[in-house]
Amino acid sequence: MPTLTLALSKGRIFDETLPLLAAAGIVPDEDPEASRRLIIGTNREGVSIVIVRASDVPTYVQHGAADVGVAGKDVLLEHGSDGLYQPLDLEIARCRMVAATKRGFDWPGTVQRGARIRIATKYLKTAREHFAAKGMHVDLIKLYGSMELAPLAGLADAIVDLVSSGNTLKANDLVVVEEIAQISARLVVNPASLKLKRDTVQPLLDALAAAVTARRHAAGVAS
Ligand code: ATP
Ligand code: MG
Repeated sequence: MPTLTLALSKGRIFDETLPLLAAAGIVPDEDPEASRRLIIGTNREGVSIVIVRASDVPTYVQHGAADVGVAGKDVLLEHGSDGLYQPLDLEIARCRMVAATKRGFDWPGTVQRGARIRIATKYLKTAREHFAAKGMHVDLIKLYGSMELAPLAGLADAIVDLVSSGNTLKANDLVVVEEIAQISARLVVNPASLKLKRDTVQPLLDALAAAVTARRHAAGVAS
């Protein structure tokens, strides 16, 4: 029986993946929030979970240190999909990647004039590609967090960041000026694992796909 390693990040990815894993018959032995352990066993022999930074999930799977992982589309856009099979949209951790400015900033006018726009983001590659495709002149400033502060502090004219409710933007007097991508978490699979551990990996993929479909139908009925 081959072993199977899943890469997950703590927080919403772990929390929202949990019910889907349960539907596939996999239950972690521990809660990563409550434990300092980075490798967590499960009820299934040979199946373990490694807890990594959200942005490190593709790296673990690409190199085969994990067979399967769950990563946000934002992370995958930024990382690139080289050496990663992406068979399933898990439809969890949904949000939008947007550009936002201070309320009152003349975004359309600035774009139309072709003026350079300073944009703070942690998504350098995605932002560069998005604005290049629109022929816009942008100066990108890499940040690691609290993007909302950048326009307020005068570091940048705009940010590229994720929003869900929009409450953080609102609280900081920022408004969405452009939508860049719809984001949700995806299952990523190491292609060699799929081939060599097919008897273990494929049933997991099938069970997760069924769980996603069941969840979508339940939500459809509820709303
Ligand atoms: P770290 O905190 O380690 O730097 P992170 O901020 O990317 O990593 P999370 O905040 O747990 O970690 O986000 C994980 C993933 O969840 C993101 O990559 C994104 O796909 C999704 N996500 C982020 N923010 C939201 C949000 N507000 N609503 C829904 N999903 C989100
Ligand atoms: Mg975060």
